[in-house]
Amino acid sequence: GTTKRTALVTGANKGIGFETARQLAQQSFTVWLGCRDQGRGEVAAKELADDGDVRFVGLDVTDTESVRAAVAHISDNIGALDVLVNNAGVAIGEGEGLPSIVRLETIRRTFDVNFYGALRVTQEFSPLVQRAQAGRIVNVSSMMGSITTLVSPDNPLGQFPAFAYPASKTLINALTGWFAVELNDTPIEINSVCPGYNATDLNNNLGTQHPSQGAKVVVRAATLPADGPSGSFFDVNGPVGW
Ligand code: NDP
Repeated sequence: GTTKRTALVTGANKGIGFETARQLAQQSFTVWLGCRDQGRGEVAAKELADDGDVRFVGLDVTDTESVRAAVAHISDNIGALDVLVNNAGVAIGEGEGLPSIVRLETIRRTFDVNFYGALRVTQEFSPLVQRAQAGRIVNVSSMMGSITTLVSPDNPLGQFPAFAYPASKTLINALTGWFAVELNDTPIEINSVCPGYNATDLNNNLGTQHPSQGAKVVVRAATLPADGPSGSFFDVNGPVGW
């Protein structure tokens, strides 16, 4: 049909989520820019007005009421959601050290957003995605979550000091795999992506590429063809080991 495709990006007021919203809007999606703060979200959506149809929606991924209100708001406007991007994430507890000493509170707060947040959003939006002709769900993960990489002899990530963040990305990868199996008989494709190392607030802008680069692989996963992968983990160069 001629109906415009629709997308929701969580944590889209800045960083990779913001650039993902921009690129999807440029591909003529109607994009819902999820942000937990109304003021910052509205400003961000307005900044993307020249790129296409971008609309703010209040969405704190840790708050079930907020997520349900977003579902209700979006359902009032559209009948189906073609693309869901679980992008919202935090990296906290820097310098707290190795798994033997990291504070459990740091792990809990990290998992709250990066894992439970993505799970909550996926559960609540699942009916709307299932109504789409060919729904796509993208979980923004990280190479840091790769156990294969972690335990390989030449692991480049072995010195990474904070356990909580990588473990949260291992968990979102589990979400990808389990939902892929559950949705196997549907047209929905769900994948994890690693966007590479991008300069954003998450890493005090130490990343080596602009977040518009990282957003490209997110958008690729959001716009996969019908015979594209599901239950996969990939970066800009292709599949990544779990
Ligand atoms: P930013 O810090 O720039 O953006 C993170 C976004 O998540 C912000 O919009 C933030 O909102 C939002 N967020 C945090 N907590 C919540 C919440 N409770 N509810 C809703 N939104 C929330 O970081 P990035 O753009 O770098 O990160 C985006 C994703 O990419 C994350 O999942 C991150 O783990 C992943 N990633 C990033 C890499 C990088 O190099 N930058 C590498 C690999 C993965 P607010 O502004 O309100 O805090």
